[in-house]
Amino acid sequence: MGLFTKDIKSMEDLFLHTLQDVYYAENQIVKALPKMIDKSTNRELAAGLRNHLRETETQVTRLQQVFERLGQEPKGVDCPAIDGLIKEADEVAGEVDDKKVLDAAIIGSAQAVEHYEISRYGTLIAWAEELGHDNVVSLLNANLKEEKAADKKLNMLAEGGVNKRASGRAKRNTRSSSRTKQAAARATSSKRTGKARRRTRAAR
Ligand code: ZN
Ligand code: FE
Ligand code: FE
Ligand code: FE
Repeated sequence: MGLFTKDIKSMEDLFLHTLQDVYYAENQIVKALPKMIDKSTNRELAAGLRNHLRETETQVTRLQQVFERLGQEPKGVDCPAIDGLIKEADEVAGEVDDKKVLDAAIIGSAQAVEHYEISRYGTLIAWAEELGHDNVVSLLNANLKEEKAADKKLNMLAEGGVNKRASGRAKRNTRSSSRTKQAAARATSSKRTGKARRRTRAAR
């Protein structure tokens, strides 16, 4: 962005700028994920991140197709947000001593990245539709769907044991039985809050 000129003059420019922003971000994520995979102790977490690395490489290709369909050269512009999220992930990971706590930290950092991507793709899809670029919506939507699925998977890993082990409250050999108990406890508590909610509503 120039000092005396404003690069973004129209909605079309803004759309292209944001596309270049997310293109840069996806490329940075491709570089950052291998480090996060190496630091992960939990096997499922490492496998999940490895799978998302492959997806991210495909996402970069999809974005190149988006540029192509718009008659533009694929190009990135600095995204200070993703640089910051990746830097923060590195810094926090470097400060964590316990491997199990590190797994929880990695999930937290990875979810921050997914949420940034989800917000960017949501915006880009709305703008593409508004600007009549219907031929790129399905490509952007394919990326958005993968980000949402990745976020959901990370949630399942965190709540399915990683957070418990990080806080030292999981019994190592009774993993599956403790998971069943957790699920049962969750079901009971949600039933309870459901009842409580109904009660509050009735009282009003
Ligand atoms: Zn700019
Ligand atoms: Fe992505
Ligand atoms: Fe950005
Ligand atoms: Fe992602």
